[in-house]
Amino acid sequence: MSDAFQNGRTVIDTIESEGYEAYFVGGCVRDYLINRTIKDIDITTNATPDTVESLFDKTIDIGKKHGTIIVMIDDEQIEVTTYRTETTYSDYRRPDEVNFTSSLEEDLKRRDFTVNAIAMTSDMSIMDPNNGQVDIERRLIQTVGDAEERFTEDALRMLRALRFSVQLQFDISEDTLTAVKRYAHLIEHVSIERIVVEVIKMYKTNEIYNYKATIIESGILQYVPVLKQLDLDLFQTLKSNSLLAELAAQIYYNHVNDSTLKQLRISNDAIAYIKNMVELMKAAKSQYKDARLLAYKFTKERLDDCILLIDKNRTLLEDIDLKFLVEAQNAHPQLPIYSASDLAIDGHDILKITNRPAGRWLREVIQALETHVLLGELNNDKDSLTDWVKTHDDFA
Ligand code: ATP
Ligand code: MG
Repeated sequence: MSDAFQNGRTVIDTIESEGYEAYFVGGCVRDYLINRTIKDIDITTNATPDTVESLFDKTIDIGKKHGTIIVMIDDEQIEVTTYRTETTYSDYRRPDEVNFTSSLEEDLKRRDFTVNAIAMTSDMSIMDPNNGQVDIERRLIQTVGDAEERFTEDALRMLRALRFSVQLQFDISEDTLTAVKRYAHLIEHVSIERIVVEVIKMYKTNEIYNYKATIIESGILQYVPVLKQLDLDLFQTLKSNSLLAELAAQIYYNHVNDSTLKQLRISNDAIAYIKNMVELMKAAKSQYKDARLLAYKFTKERLDDCILLIDKNRTLLEDIDLKFLVEAQNAHPQLPIYSASDLAIDGHDILKITNRPAGRWLREVIQALETHVLLGELNNDKDSLTDWVKTHDDFA
């Protein structure tokens, strides 16, 4: 028996000992049947959230009105959700109300894809009224029930179809893909935060490349802020395991406008990362005459990421000088300084040496010192730098 289910089994056994039903469901059952690493355990039960809460010492209420309680066993968070059906959807996003049901079959029917709608008892017997195992066998993502209906209920499911297809390397069934194409525009009703979560999951798998043609074919990108600007030829040909690097390449070639990145509601750090990557790609073309100067301007991690991207896309990004970047990468660990504060003298020292009032010239002197030290033309010690400043006080 797979160990990943151990704490979940404790939860199921406890619920069952009170006379209720409880089953493993969703991703954990799917991944167990495919033989993939199991990430987190979801359990479905006919016990109400209040009952579930009363049965365990440590619980977290993350959405009682949607039926979900987290049960903590040995620091593992196990999501326990009461059987439910979803009623009418008026905004293509969330059901207007959630109804609990006493039927496992009803609960499985409201789930998104057949492969996600399989239940399993604590002793690993499978309940699969929607034939999810057949689709696992065929490696197929297919909605439970009518695809058009399911996507008009909740438009995010279209993106989830693509995401699971990428993650599991499954195809999307013809009906399901046709429905995605037909209703792609409804993704505009879904919050950008939820969209980005799915897109980032697609990149995390390292498998997105083989599914880019399908993503394009789905037509969904054109309804997502920022991603609607992607040049589709570049998107299809670029091999990247990161959304941020993908965006950097698109900005580098002037397809995506970097001032729109905020619309993705990603963190400021993520935006800074993208912009810095673009700057590096541009810098690697020409700006710096010596690899050590390039290395000084960028972090080792950024150089590594950029080299990875260019290495995987040599013909596509051929105007960026990979050799120069690798030279900078090699130089990085041995640089004599990593910032102006590593210089043996600082601004105050320079003002004292020159006996001049501060001004724009000071920044220029410091930059000159940085360059000379980086290029090995000056030793980074107080005497050498002081001498240099004394003999070069012709700064405007
Ligand atoms: P993973 O955790 O690997 O991303 P998962 O299948 O566990 O995959 P979750 O988002 O954790 O996906 O959802 C758990 C289960 O809840 C799914 O397997 C599915 O049965 C159901 N589910 C989640 N989101 C939806 C949705 N939008 N519509 C219908 N069912 C859903
Ligand atoms: Mg999950």
